[in-house]
Amino acid sequence: MKKYLCILLVLIQAFNAFGQVKHNLPIIDMHLHAIGADDQGPPPVKVGTPFKHFGYAEANVPYGETLLNALKNGTWNKVSITSPISDNDLKEQTLMVLKERNIYGVLSGDLAKVRQWKAELPKRIINAVYWDFNILKNEKLDVDSLSKLFKSGEFKVFGEIAIQYEGISAADPAMEPYFKLAEDLNIPVGIHIGTGPPGVSAVTNSRARLGSALILEEVLIKHPKLRIYAMHAGWPMIDDMIAMLYAYPQLYVDLGVINYILPQKEFDFYLQRLVNAGFGKRVMYGSDQMVWPGAIKIGIDRIENCNYLTPEQKRDILFNNAVRFLNLSAKEIAAMQ
Ligand SMILES: [Zn+2]
Repeated sequence: MKKYLCILLVLIQAFNAFGQVKHNLPIIDMHLHAIGADDQGPPPVKVGTPFKHFGYAEANVPYGETLLNALKNGTWNKVSITSPISDNDLKEQTLMVLKERNIYGVLSGDLAKVRQWKAELPKRIINAVYWDFNILKNEKLDVDSLSKLFKSGEFKVFGEIAIQYEGISAADPAMEPYFKLAEDLNIPVGIHIGTGPPGVSAVTNSRARLGSALILEEVLIKHPKLRIYAMHAGWPMIDDMIAMLYAYPQLYVDLGVINYILPQKEFDFYLQRLVNAGFGKRVMYGSDQMVWPGAIKIGIDRIENCNYLTPEQKRDILFNNAVRFLNLSAKEIAAMQ
């Protein structure tokens, strides 16, 4: 019997060596989007993975045009990946990556699109609500309708809350009923804190000062039971982020977008700082995949290749921390292996 077991083990190792039956450990992507292929400008568009630099405004040229051209031609990129042309290709390629790398994604975007993607790959999608005040106005996603979406169990995460792009602070009193709703219903909240496209305030109402994690302070005091994560880990305001993580043990972060657009050295500096400061148990992987399905693998590989993280710290970031934050049941965890 022992002999057969040995042969079996050798066979399993051999298959693994050739990658034929390689089993990828599960990963949770806390920051995935279901959006249109033209969301970042007319496709195809090229994102930097990473960018070489974040460009500059040109005299007498509207900055929006400069940014669109840079995305069209990849001129600011060190390495480029190109977006698919159609909504369907974007969906199919993203879902394919989820299957290939054994990923479970917290998916937000237009509700109809989230439902459509979920229907196609139900086991790997956790429905989330993308939200800002414009959506509140146009789609009537107010406290009542959100409450119904969450109570039905169909939608499980409130985020990405993208009000920074509207120049609105998380501490604005208008946000109060929404944080209260999430706290009352025990729904996890993901809020955009920090980055955006290069030159973001020249093309949106975003304000850099609203990218400080410190703006969450009053929210966390008022809602101590709220489960909340700062998307993009509040890059680049690392001191503010660490101060908040230290003071508020319920606060988590995700690494969305910074794990593929930032130059390697800057990403390593930022992630290493978070972990060195003692917050490796509250950093979660997130892709912030918008229209570039290839970005998901790049971000994961960057984390897996970090020589300053132990295998345990990598698994925490890629899976365990999100399991704890999302409060997944033993049954749900078992279904993800
Ligand atoms: Zn964001």
